[in-house]
Amino acid sequence: MNDKQLTYQELINNGIKKLVIIITLSISALILIIVGVQQSLMTVHEAQGQMMSLNRANIDDIPSFIHWNNQNNRHSKQNTVIRVKTNKSSITATSGREGQVIMTSSASKKFIAQKKFSIFGKNVVYVKSFGFFLFFSQKDSNTTYQIWVSLNRLINSLILLIIIISIVVFITLGFGTWWAHQLAAKLSAPTIQLVKETKNTTKNSEVDQPTLEVPQSPQEIHELGNAFNELLTAQNQRLQREKDFVSNASHELRTPIAAVRGNINLIKRHGDKHPEVIPESLDFIDEESLRMQNLIENLLHLSRADRAKVILQDENLSEITEQIGQHYEPSIPHKMILDIDPNLHISGNSDTLKQIIVALLDNANKYSDDNTPINLSLKDINNKVELSVTDLGMGIPDDQKKLIFQRFYRVDTSHSNEIKGSGLGLSIVAQLVKLNNGTIEVLDNHPRGSIFKIIFDKI
Ligand code: ADP
Repeated sequence: MNDKQLTYQELINNGIKKLVIIITLSISALILIIVGVQQSLMTVHEAQGQMMSLNRANIDDIPSFIHWNNQNNRHSKQNTVIRVKTNKSSITATSGREGQVIMTSSASKKFIAQKKFSIFGKNVVYVKSFGFFLFFSQKDSNTTYQIWVSLNRLINSLILLIIIISIVVFITLGFGTWWAHQLAAKLSAPTIQLVKETKNTTKNSEVDQPTLEVPQSPQEIHELGNAFNELLTAQNQRLQREKDFVSNASHELRTPIAAVRGNINLIKRHGDKHPEVIPESLDFIDEESLRMQNLIENLLHLSRADRAKVILQDENLSEITEQIGQHYEPSIPHKMILDIDPNLHISGNSDTLKQIIVALLDNANKYSDDNTPINLSLKDINNKVELSVTDLGMGIPDDQKKLIFQRFYRVDTSHSNEIKGSGLGLSIVAQLVKLNNGTIEVLDNHPRGSIFKIIFDKI
């Protein structure tokens, strides 16, 4: 297995190089084959033509051969040797590049005398010190016709073609490699820039809200950079929330601990001389430690809800809501109005659903006057299940409706400051609603108060 990690640039380079090699080599091979085959066919055709003409001339002595030779204006481009053997004599003619026919038995003697090796069947022969020839032979009653057409010119022109093609291939390859290099560098530049940016941002850890500078093009890298930035922003916000959470939690815990320690010191220092301060201080310690306990429980709830993955199953939310409403009413100084459609089922988790309803009823109880009613309703609206808790309390200002779901957030009014709370209840509710695949919103009730509405998918 090849473990080497190739860069973008190397990959593009290799790809384009391969492409250039394949294209140039296949085009060259094609040209070579076409030209080679065409030339060979032409040569064969010419030779066969001459052979036919000879045969037709029916030569049986030297004068008739000379006559045929004069008559036949051979335009062969190839050197050709023709031998006609009759019973009486043998005559040889050679034709040169000039197209002239030279009758010379002595010049052709050497050729005829040379050893000939057949290649590819009988028709291609190699004649020592003369080269390759195409050979045809025909015989009729008393005459033998033999024709050798030289293949040297054809072979030479093919060799020349191969040389030219090789030069073209080398030039194309050289240019292709340079071009591939340029293209690869251009294509990979934005990616390299993004990687550099990322590394710099990672190194620069003091920056509170790090973001990357994103290249404008190409589009993919631009989108990747933006996606990175979104991820970074989400992570930054998450980190910030965690920081806030820890600092808020320690702040919230510090206050009751300081109060408890203050009262313990008071008892230690003055308890002997003023025993009357002891019961009051103990009450205070009791109250503050209870507040601490609640706060810690809430924090635990929240961290569990953060990580929890509950098992959702078919739950009859009508039954659950009815049950909580009836059990809750006796423990509060409010009249509860239940308006629950029967048999509404959702996919949820009954424990967390109960926890949500109780938390909302707790708040309605805390933030509205004792003599006002609280309405708990469950309705089937547009094939969704809507759970709402409505009170006639102090209501929530519009600009704080979203904020109340944040951890430790409490609406800052003189009323609510008197009411005990940690600001964690609704953030737990929001988490639990999410775990049950629901959505929560808060609306104004008329003439006063708030409506907490949760919407689930009906099954
Ligand atoms: P806590 O009640 O412990 O302060 P919550 O997270 O339950 O914390 O609520 C956050 C804030 O939202 C409360 O401090 C209060 O100001 C406001 N709030 C919640 N429920 C109601 C309600 N039913 N009516 C008016 N204000 C409310």
